[in-house]
Amino acid sequence: MFYYRRMRFPQGKVKALTLSYDDDTIHDLRFAEIINRYGIKCTFNLNFGRFSDGVQHLSAMTLQQAKDLLMDSPHEVAVHGYTHMPLRDVPCNVANQDVSTDVAAAEKAFGRIVRGMAYANGSFNEETGSVLAHCGIEYCRTVRATRSFALPKNWLYLDPTCHHKDPELFSLAEKFLNDTPKGDPYLFYLWGHAYEFNNDNNWDLLERFCQTVGNREDVWYATNIEIFDYIRDYNRLIFSFDGSWVHNPTAQEIFFSVGERAGTYNYAVKPGETVFIDRTLPEKKG
Ligand SMILES: [Zn+2]
Repeated sequence: MFYYRRMRFPQGKVKALTLSYDDDTIHDLRFAEIINRYGIKCTFNLNFGRFSDGVQHLSAMTLQQAKDLLMDSPHEVAVHGYTHMPLRDVPCNVANQDVSTDVAAAEKAFGRIVRGMAYANGSFNEETGSVLAHCGIEYCRTVRATRSFALPKNWLYLDPTCHHKDPELFSLAEKFLNDTPKGDPYLFYLWGHAYEFNNDNNWDLLERFCQTVGNREDVWYATNIEIFDYIRDYNRLIFSFDGSWVHNPTAQEIFFSVGERAGTYNYAVKPGETVFIDRTLPEKKG
């Protein structure tokens, strides 16, 4: 039997939303308060060399404020360069030192493994990705808007859907909600800086975006690293040659659909489980 096989997000969902916000300013506090009300998750990209020393200067958070905000939250702590260094024009050893110092400081401060990053000023060159990989970074976000919901291909140069100032923001949100993906599931990846809402005096834009896309049953709200891990785990599923057996060697339940063009059947495989696809009672969809 020839059939198409497609990844589905947790609970069989076909849409996921993730946010990525940079620069550890005090405006992250109001930002988090808003997105939390809509069940939306964000990855916060922090510069561990630029926290305020307690006397508020500019608008940097103190490390303690960042810990209070993120330690027990559903959000992800990621790095953004210890000194916010644009990495395009610096030698690899300098880039390595800036990033590895940041990762080490992040892991020490939060007591967790930190594997995500966003490029400061969106700046990198063709060698930067391999430098980051040597620092334990699994993905790093660029500032190149795709205006698409395609799944990332190159995680070390991870292109977002758009910035929140994109004039297409709400038309993209409507398309994301109203379209039915024909193949791979959709990922809406939004990025920005919380201080921009303060500078532009448009917190209502964030509120309106969250009202549009938040608190929905059919969307998986996840951090960047949760999506990275889920897709990697999906790709670790082991299928028999004829595609009728599947084994899940990972630590999480994985969802996918199979079917000929006319029909789609959804499957869930628990950690460690092996499933005979043809004998599993299929749940006919559509
Ligand atoms: Zn930045």
